[in-house]
Amino acid sequence: MTVSASPYIGRFAPSPTGPLHLGSLVAAMASYLDARAHGGQWLVRIEDVDGDRNVDGADRHILASLQRCGMQWDGDVTWQSQRTALYEAALRQLEAAGAVYPCGCSRREIADSQLTLSARQAQANIYPGTCRHGLAPGKTARALRLKVPQSPHCVIGFEDRWAGYVSQDLTDDVGDFVIKRADGYWAYQLAVVVDDGAQHITDIVRGADLLDSTPRQIYLQRLLGLPQPRYLHVPVVVNERGEKLSKQTGAQAFDTGAAPELLLREAILPAARFLGLDLRADTLDAFWRAAVPAWQQLRHPA
Ligand code: GLU
Repeated sequence: MTVSASPYIGRFAPSPTGPLHLGSLVAAMASYLDARAHGGQWLVRIEDVDGDRNVDGADRHILASLQRCGMQWDGDVTWQSQRTALYEAALRQLEAAGAVYPCGCSRREIADSQLTLSARQAQANIYPGTCRHGLAPGKTARALRLKVPQSPHCVIGFEDRWAGYVSQDLTDDVGDFVIKRADGYWAYQLAVVVDDGAQHITDIVRGADLLDSTPRQIYLQRLLGLPQPRYLHVPVVVNERGEKLSKQTGAQAFDTGAAPELLLREAILPAARFLGLDLRADTLDAFWRAAVPAWQQLRHPA
């Protein structure tokens, strides 16, 4: 059953920094269920722009895990590392609008110059704008930053389908942010906005750890003339110490060879329960048949 009038295109956009685990499965499941509940498409995009964090073979492992769990994507999988021409074009557009500047500051200098900021800005660890009006003599450009308007403050608000209304003062809480990094890699914020725009994504469903990136992304969408998708940020799974589950915090990886019944019991049903779906099913097929309408009921009461 289609709930919205416009065609729905959703996506799951994992960084290939390790295998799928319960935390990333929850994000994948939520975006998959939301797409299917809307009768929409579900794309998978591997976000491998950060060459330092990529783990060899993690992309294949993630894709195999998704299929093993019964989450089949639509169309071809895309890899951000093959899309740099799009990021270049967006950068040119932002430069033409006078919204970008080269920054020559090292981390150390940024930390030292925090002293010139208000307490709130310093606490948020924001860039003090040292290079906004030109590189100091003798400095070389390292990163590229996007100018965030100073006066009036740039405040971006949006309605999140899970968290409700969210707003952030980009001027005070973020500052001029990096869109191309000193190590030459494209920043996540730019790449994700360009790709979501190019792939006509209408709905972004992902973990709440990205809630405070969303206003930056909406600001970039506006500068690039891209439509604003709908957002739904699902709570993040944490371990017993309250840390977001990740490879670093000891999340247990998926065994792609595990029997379907085991996957169902150990991974799929717990992930679904975390999302508020208390379902019983003996097979993967039965699970998805029950989960799609259950999600529809939960997130879009008719
Ligand atoms: N690649 C990001 C991650 O794995 C997710 C990006 C997104 O969904 O916007 O955390």
